[in-house]
Amino acid sequence: MKKIYLSNPRGFCAGVKYAISFVENVHNLYQNEQIYVRKEIVHNRRVVNDMAKKGIKFINELDEAPENSIVIFSAHGVSPEVIQIAKEKNMRIGDATCPLVTRVHRKAKKLRETHQIIYIGHKGHDEAIGTMGEAEMFLVESEEDVVSLVGKINLDKPLTYLMQTTLSVSDTKKIIDKIEEVFPNVEHPDKDDICYATTERQEAVESMMDSIDAMLVIGAPNSSNSMRLVQLAQKKKPKSFRVSSAEEINKDDFDNLNLEVMGITAGASSPQILIDEIITKIQTFYPDVIVSNFPGSREDSMNFKLPRELLK
Ligand code: SF4
Repeated sequence: MKKIYLSNPRGFCAGVKYAISFVENVHNLYQNEQIYVRKEIVHNRRVVNDMAKKGIKFINELDEAPENSIVIFSAHGVSPEVIQIAKEKNMRIGDATCPLVTRVHRKAKKLRETHQIIYIGHKGHDEAIGTMGEAEMFLVESEEDVVSLVGKINLDKPLTYLMQTTLSVSDTKKIIDKIEEVFPNVEHPDKDDICYATTERQEAVESMMDSIDAMLVIGAPNSSNSMRLVQLAQKKKPKSFRVSSAEEINKDDFDNLNLEVMGITAGASSPQILIDEIITKIQTFYPDVIVSNFPGSREDSMNFKLPRELLK
C-alpha cells in the first residue's frame, strides 16, 4: 500500500461527544454514587469499556438497577414506557439522548394526534425502538415493506413519515419515492430526519470514491451509521470493509486485498484513539505508506451544550 487518505469529517459526531460528556460529568458530580447507564451509551465497545473501568455500570434494562439510583439513558433515546418505569422506581434520570434524536421524538408526539406515521428505520435498533414508542407507527426498512402497507394504511386519514437519523441518504430517498408512488397523498415533512453527521460522513466517503481502491470503515457492527458507510463504499469499491479494532487487522488480509490507495473513515461513535491505533498498526505493515487528509475535506460542523446543572 502506498497511500492512505483520511476522510473528513470522520469519527465522533456532536451527539456522541454530548452523550459521553454527559456521563463523565454526572460521574464527576456524584462520585460517591453508583452511576448506571441503560444500554451502550454509544455503539462502541471501546467507549463503553473505558467508562466501565471508571466504575460506571451498563445495564440492559432498568430492573438491573436498584430503586432511587442514578440512571442515564443512552444517545439513542428511549420510549416513554422506559421513562415511566424509571419514574415508578424513583430513579434519578439523566437523559443523554442526542438532541437530534429528541427532535424526532417531539415530531412523533405532535404527529400522533393527527396523522398515520410511517417510520423508515432498522428493526430492533435502539433508536428505532425508542422513537416508535412515542406513537403507533408502520416500520419500513425497504421499498418492498412500503408496498406491503397497502391495505393497512387508512387512505382517508392523513399520512406522513419520520426516519431514523443514521440511514443511508440514497436508500432512504428510494424508500420515500416508493411511499409517494404507493400513497400519493402522503405529506412530506418540512425536513428529513437523517442527521447532519450521517449526511456529512456519507458525502465525504462518496467524494473519495474515484481516488481510492477501497475504504476501511472503523466502527462497530451494531453502529447503524458505520454500517451505512460500509454499504455506500462497497457500491463503488467492493473491496471496502469494516473493522472494530486494531486487533482485527493483519498484514496478510491487507496484502490479499492488493490496494495502492486506501481511504479510512470512522463511524460517529468511533473514538480518535481507535482510529490512531489502527493507522499505526497499518504503518507497521507498510512503513513507507503516506497518510494524509483527503484534499478538500471539511470538519464536523456542530456542537451541543450540556445542561447547565452538569457544568458545575
Ligand atoms: S449520528 Fe447524528 S443523531 Fe446520532 S448521535 Fe450523532 S449527531 Fe446525533
